[in-house]
Amino acid sequence: MLDLIIRGGTLPDGRVCDIAIAGDRIADIAPRIDGAAAQEIDATGDLVSPPFVDPHFHMDATLSYGTPRVNASGTLLEGIDLWGELRDLATVDEMVERALRYCDWAASMGLLAIRSHVDTTPGHLNTVRAMIEVREKVRPYIDLQLVAFPQDGLYRAANGRANVIRALDMGVDVVGGIPHFERTMADGAASVRDLCEIAAERGLPVDMHCDETDDPHSRHIETLAYETTRLGLQGRVAGSHLTSMHSMDNYYVSKLLPLIAEAGISAIPNPLINIVLQGRHDTFPKRRGLTRVKEMQAMGIPVGWGQDCVLDPWYSLGTADMLDVAFMGLHVAQMTHPQEMARCFTMVTETNAAIMGLTDYGLEKGKLASLVILDAANPVEALRLRATRLAVVSKGNVIARTPRADAEMSLSGRPRTVARRH
Ligand SMILES: [Zn+2]
Repeated sequence: MLDLIIRGGTLPDGRVCDIAIAGDRIADIAPRIDGAAAQEIDATGDLVSPPFVDPHFHMDATLSYGTPRVNASGTLLEGIDLWGELRDLATVDEMVERALRYCDWAASMGLLAIRSHVDTTPGHLNTVRAMIEVREKVRPYIDLQLVAFPQDGLYRAANGRANVIRALDMGVDVVGGIPHFERTMADGAASVRDLCEIAAERGLPVDMHCDETDDPHSRHIETLAYETTRLGLQGRVAGSHLTSMHSMDNYYVSKLLPLIAEAGISAIPNPLINIVLQGRHDTFPKRRGLTRVKEMQAMGIPVGWGQDCVLDPWYSLGTADMLDVAFMGLHVAQMTHPQEMARCFTMVTETNAAIMGLTDYGLEKGKLASLVILDAANPVEALRLRATRLAVVSKGNVIARTPRADAEMSLSGRPRTVARRH
């Protein structure tokens, strides 16, 4: 006996299929599946997608907006200062509570895998303790990866390096860094080398905040590519943000992109945050600050969209909706061709899953039974509508349902209800 059959949904590639689920696995996926299940969901005309994945988030800071006060300048640097106060005020229980509330939002939005950076700067490491507790609590429905993130610098902060090591010893999954925030370019490059060596020794992936600045001379991605190749870390390393590339000289970029491709590094721009934080020192023209997305994709470099922040010292909005993230990315990177729009959807699903190394992901027989049913006919319509998640299935369980919300109309001679599907 099957546990669940989802009937007649349209997959992102356009196939119309039934999906049968037994336990936490996809038992079958085919145009027509005979037999019955304990539960059936009719998805006729709706999009059935593998779940959304966010490869870049800060769960220790989420849902803290306004505490101890708002970021008046709107800059990255004031955000870092504010967070520096907040992280010592927040208790473990408070951080756990905020993170669990955020994970409820994520689950309701079909966002079922998240990579969160965790600040390792404070010696008490309450941030790390809290996020490890959250990782265990949400494990039944969300896969949470944690990155040891020395927010105030590996060398710039007191005990920065020692605290990263302590966090990794406590069971954090990924090695992070912030080379552009070290005191000098030389220290930044040294931090990249040091952190990549730590990752190589421990067999861990690397995901660094890298060149999150408008300074075109911030070229730590070059060192990250070099160290990745030198240490044989290809396929395990991601560069987050890479916003300086927006402002770099074109000739230099023509040399840089092949080095990134050769190193097998993935890129994680965070369009909501990059468009808000970058260009703040400009008058006009004001730079967008997003990295070179289409240009990297043309070189075969995997690029996924990350969310980065929701209601925290750096960003005053957000709803755990990866379609919002992709929607902003589509606009800022001008990915308006139909194939590019569809790719924006793939970036927040399959590409992000590949960047996080989720091997059990996807709508295929034998894979983990996690998926989302959207009130849209196809991926581009899902983006345009930021479509309602009609149902979310995680590891075989229906964990969230949201009713379809068509407007009831009172216009003479016009339809009684209106949906915005087209
Ligand atoms: Zn970040």
